Amino acid sequence: MIADPALRRPAAVRVLSIHAGYGCQHAGRCCTSNWPIPIEPSQEARLDALIAHGRITTTSETAAITHIPDGPILLGRDHGQCVFHDTHAAGGCRIQRVAGHEALPLACRQFPRQSVTDPRGVSVTLSHYCPTARALLDAVTGPVTIVDRALAFPTHEEYVGLDATAQLPPLLHPRCLLEWDGWWLIEALAVQLVDALPHSALPRLAVAVEHLHGWRPGTAPLRDVVQRAFDLAAVSGVPDWEPDGASLATHVTDARAAVPPEWQADAERALATRAPALPDAVIGRCLAAHVFANWAAYTGHGLRTWYRSVEAAGSLLRVTNDPGMVDLVLRHLADSSALITRWSRAERSPVIRRP
Ligand code: SF4
Repeated sequence: MIADPALRRPAAVRVLSIHAGYGCQHAGRCCTSNWPIPIEPSQEARLDALIAHGRITTTSETAAITHIPDGPILLGRDHGQCVFHDTHAAGGCRIQRVAGHEALPLACRQFPRQSVTDPRGVSVTLSHYCPTARALLDAVTGPVTIVDRALAFPTHEEYVGLDATAQLPPLLHPRCLLEWDGWWLIEALAVQLVDALPHSALPRLAVAVEHLHGWRPGTAPLRDVVQRAFDLAAVSGVPDWEPDGASLATHVTDARAAVPPEWQADAERALATRAPALPDAVIGRCLAAHVFANWAAYTGHGLRTWYRSVEAAGSLLRVTNDPGMVDLVLRHLADSSALITRWSRAERSPVIRRP
């Protein structure tokens, strides 16, 4: 994770066009999900002062702040809600109303952003567990692109997430690194592909991944090979994606296994959701949001792991038809390292037979 505050203000911020207009509408999802909300010591001191002066009160008798021995400092919760959350028309956070956005704990300031920083700058995708982010999937029209000057994501904001700035480029497979330019082109072309052809996005992405698997440094320039792989994937005669029950069950099992015991019941409720079928365009946008700024690409064992993580999102979406529940499980309840360990098993064999 990013520790140096200087790194939180990047030179460039990239987001998907579907998320470019995001702004917190105080839906309160992050305040009412019974999550522990850690608060940093500096913010705690500020909050203590505001409480001591009577400027902020809590909504319950529960302690406003709890110190866990050798652990984090947490805001109080009552009936699953943060004790600073209410239903005020001007926004449901008492801390924010009195002291502004800067006074919030880091976790609250970042939700629903999921960021990864690499030598190019920071890439931010959003969790659709936030109802405001979820609504963008329906409201936005036009092709999904990667944009780098979105007004809602200025470079002077802080973006905390996975820090890959000092890291080598992502792995193509366990014995071969990609090059940064090649990886960034893969990410951009994959966003285009899954958005343009949502029905067959996953088999086409698998074709591109397997074509790339054969690249060796010192042979053809990686960018040329990437372009060819995605050209081939776009015209490949693959069938629409129809995962069988066993494949879906494996993804559900992987997700369940990565969720810590205390969150199992929440994960089961999320995975039991059966919403009405989604329009193709929404499915493509959801997949694009998992292709982009994807931690598995940076911390997994290769492109097959990255593919598997996108397939996991597609599979849970096929089961639930609910992007919010998919992101609740994959982005919030599951332990990301445990998920990536399970997805990395994909490196052992092709994710699709090579054309
Ligand atoms: S501090 Fe404010 S934004 Fe954060 S969980 Fe509590 S009510 Fe919500």
